[in-house]
Amino acid sequence: LESQFLRAQRLESLGTLAGGIAHDLNNILTPILSAAQLLQLKRSPSEEWSQQMYRTIESNCKRGAALVKQVLHFARGVEGKRSIVVINHLFLEIEQIINSTFPKSIEFSSDINPNLWAVIGDATHLHQVLMNLTVNARDAMPNGGSLTISAKNFLVDEQYARMNLEASIGPYIVITVADTGIGMSPEILDRIFEPFFTTKEVGKGTGLGLSTVRGIIKSHGGFINVHSEIGKGTEFKLFVPAVETMATSLAENVELPNGNRE
Ligand code: ADP
Repeated sequence: LESQFLRAQRLESLGTLAGGIAHDLNNILTPILSAAQLLQLKRSPSEEWSQQMYRTIESNCKRGAALVKQVLHFARGVEGKRSIVVINHLFLEIEQIINSTFPKSIEFSSDINPNLWAVIGDATHLHQVLMNLTVNARDAMPNGGSLTISAKNFLVDEQYARMNLEASIGPYIVITVADTGIGMSPEILDRIFEPFFTTKEVGKGTGLGLSTVRGIIKSHGGFINVHSEIGKGTEFKLFVPAVETMATSLAENVELPNGNRE
């Protein structure tokens, strides 16, 4: 019975997926087609006009490619590699990206904890998770605000595991991504992990970010708590099973993002 239920659920999400793909690809292809048709019809196109049409074709092709990449990443599932992931290193990478690409009106801080346990998992996928969450946080703060990421060790005990069916007894790392942005209503909060659910305008969001995040965290055996308040902000807490040991001693030969060794 349970497997039937799971199958139905999978088919339903596949249906949602296919529908969403068709819809979005159509929106992308339509302007490409119109631009190409206009290019053909116009007898003596001015240089500037041709350039403009070309830019329309190019930018929409890029959007199409990006969407397909995201859909493939999502549909391929999250079979990821398994190696020791040092969350502090991931934080440094994310910090570099945020400092060079996010608007200055967003105050960013990250808390690096040298005694953090390690995660066995896929560093690229976990990097993707942090990027998706921080980009969402950025989008939620159009007028600026503060974005913080932190990580701490967390030991799930018998009592916690009894109250949280997704948790099992043992060591976890809890990664928190918090913003002081627009927040979400309970109705929106209810749907954020659905594939293709987005409140962003066409071309700005695919609605695949959080379903990918959830897939990746699930594939690591973890779970997610979200707390959000309209006008106050949002906090994502990612619980990822960890190995209870010092990350630094395990990762002696791991390359740091700047190429130095620890
Ligand atoms: P996308 O970012 O492409 O819309 P996501 O799956 O990442 O897709 O997010 C789905 C929706 O969840 C967003 O459109 C937005 O409404 C809501 N959301 C996600 N993160 C936040 C956040 N930090 N603050 C407010 N709303 C958020």
